[in-house]
Parts: sequence; C-alpha cells; structure tokens
Amino acid sequence: MKILTVNAGSSSLKFNCIELPEQKELISGYFERIGSKESFYSIKINGEKIKREAELNNHMDAVDCLNKELIENNIVASLDEIDGVGHRLVHGGDEFNKSVLITDEVLSACKQFDDLAPLHNPPMLACVDAFRKALPNTPMAAVFDTAFHQTMKETEFIYPVPYEWYTKYGVRKYGFHGTSHRFINKTISEVMGRNDLKVISCHLGSGASICAIDAGKSVDTTMGFSPLAGLMMGTRSGDMDASIIPFIMNKENKTCDEVMNELNKKSGFLGVSGTGSDSRDIEDGIAAGNERCVLAQNIFCQRVANYIAMYNNLLNGADVIVFTAGIGENSIDSRVEIGEKIASLGVKIDTAVNDFRGKLKKISTEDSKIPVYVVPTNEELMIALDTYELINE
Ligand code: AMP
Repeated sequence: MKILTVNAGSSSLKFNCIELPEQKELISGYFERIGSKESFYSIKINGEKIKREAELNNHMDAVDCLNKELIENNIVASLDEIDGVGHRLVHGGDEFNKSVLITDEVLSACKQFDDLAPLHNPPMLACVDAFRKALPNTPMAAVFDTAFHQTMKETEFIYPVPYEWYTKYGVRKYGFHGTSHRFINKTISEVMGRNDLKVISCHLGSGASICAIDAGKSVDTTMGFSPLAGLMMGTRSGDMDASIIPFIMNKENKTCDEVMNELNKKSGFLGVSGTGSDSRDIEDGIAAGNERCVLAQNIFCQRVANYIAMYNNLLNGADVIVFTAGIGENSIDSRVEIGEKIASLGVKIDTAVNDFRGKLKKISTEDSKIPVYVVPTNEELMIALDTYELINE
C-alpha cells in the first residue's frame, strides 16, 4: 500500500510517501514559504534532493504540486493509487486518545481546538480540506501530537490553578511530540525485547520534550497546555515564572502577545546565547570561547538532567533512557554533558562509543545503572503505520 504522510505548518508542508508493509520511503518533500513571493519546494527521491521554484499561494497549490510530482516521478500512475493519507494534527484536546479515520464529525471536533492551538490547528485543518478535495475517495487518518499523553493521571495533568479554568476552558497539561515518544517506545521495546519497559524518552530537537513512559503508556511529559512549557528549546523559554510576563509588559510597554512572541521565538538557546537557536551554532560559540553560549548549553543540559532525575523518581526507577531528534541524535557533546549531570543516578556514558551521529546505538557503559540509547525518531513512519492499520481494520 502507498501511504502519504502530511505535516502542515502555517506556511510549510512536509510530505512522505511510504510503501507499507515494506516501510520503504518512495519520495519525500518539503514546501516552504507558502503564501509568500519566495515560495519553493524540494523533493527527495532515490537519495537525491531536488529544489524547485513554484508559486504557492496557498496549501491547495502545494497539494497540486505534490500530486504532480507523484505522477511525474512514477510513484503512482494516477492519484487513485494512493491508498491512504495520514495527517499530523497538533491538537486532539481530551477528545482523541488515539489516531482516527477522518470524517466530517472528526473534523468538526478538531475545529474546537483552534482556541488551544491558534497558530497550528487552522492551517493543519485547511490542509486536510485541500487533500480531501484533491483525493475525495482516499481514506485519511488524523494522528494527534497530544493523543499519546491522554493516559496521564490528574496528578500530572491538572495545574495548581483555580480548578474552574480546567472545567470551563480546558486549561490542563496536554503534552506534545506524542507521535515521536510513541515511536521511541515502540522501537526501544523491540530492541530490548520487552513490552513492560519504563522509558525516559528525551526528544531534543528545535522543539524539545521528555516523556516518562510505563509499559507503553505516557505517565508524564514536560510540555504542557502548550508546547512552550518544560525544557529550554531553540527559541522557546520552557518553564519560567509566569509573573515575568506582566513585569516585562509594563517595563517595555508591550502587549501580552508581543511578550508571548518573545518567549516563543526569541528565548531558549537564541535568547540566552544571543548567537543562534541551533545547537551547532552554540557548539561553535563554545569552541570560540563565547561565555553566553557556554551558559546556554549548561542551562539546557541541566534542565534535561533535572527532568530525567524527576521522571526516574516518578517511574520508580527507569529501565532505559533514550535520546532522539536533532540534538539527541547528533550532538555528541550534549549527550556527554547530560550524562555527567545524571551521574547521581548511576548513569555512565561510554564516550568512545558515543562518538557518532544519527544511528540507533547503546551509548552507556556495561556497568551503567540505567542503559542509555540513541534512537533516531521517525514520526512519518509512525503516522504511516497508524494510517495503514486504520485502513486495514
Ligand atoms: P529537529 O527539530 O529534530 O529537526 O532538530 C533540529 C535541531 O537539531 C537543530 O536546530 C540543531 O539544534 C540540532 N542539530 C541538528 N544537527 C546537529 C548536529 N550535527 N550537531 C548538533 N546539533 C544538531
């Protein structure tokens, strides 16, 4: 079966076409700056990356281009040969605890979450609409970032704020990156040959979150009501004192939206270092003796370590710690530094073994109290597998 996975942002659209059950990627691509004059896209096929200029006024234009590429590259002879489309949706509120086939009812249920994810939800739903118009007879699945965390208990998901904020407005921890954490749990369970593992899954990318998983169920995660909470990230602050917001609004005569924008886009690695949001820039800065880069890296690693220790306690002793996503898979130095900061848990990283990027491998020593692995994440494959299963149910 040929399954298309779609991950739409406000001005971007990523897609992969995957043959299942073989798990073979046939083509992938990325449309950028949709709606602006400089729109373009790139496709990857047979290991070759090709960039193309294109006028993309909206997501429908991107869908048209995508369909044309599928046919021109002989992935399908006609669009009817696409057996299913899996859409990543950022928010399923507390309505969806797993992936579902998309119906009109599902879409109107999703619409109510516009309020909870105003930047992400509307463009994602617009993209689903565009695909439903282009492929009216093809089954489609919704795969939610939040669904995996619906197993959290109230102790974890209720904030200590007036309870009515939860009952009236749905103010609670939802958690995100669920598809990635679920993929990590599935993969490490296969590697270790157990399905009752207590896993601390560290998704450290430009967005970052940690998830405590017990026998396949999310127990707690660091992101919260929104993806701003928890760890320090590329440009997001992570946890901070909420009273800073009105304080800065007053000091700088800024609106709440302006300050929130700074917490989302000007904080984290970028905010602390003043250099860049990418951990490679930070590593270069550290090598050049930039103290703010050293500070940014220390804060990041310390916060990751603190959450790992906290989740080790919550899980009553983890069986395995996994690093994944851009930083987790590629930043050799970050893995070492985080490992040093959790030495009190008996964790020991084998620095000789750790010297690699982007592979599935154990990086802890044999006498490490908790084994530590690097596992490349693959959210697209997880979305495709969910879609495949739903279609074949
Ligand atoms: P992601 O959001 O998972 O795509 O991760 C992207 C982030 O991973 C980038 O912003 C970098 O901070 C980090 N990253 C990617 N490659 C490397 C590398 N070779 N070394 C260190 N960090 C990396």
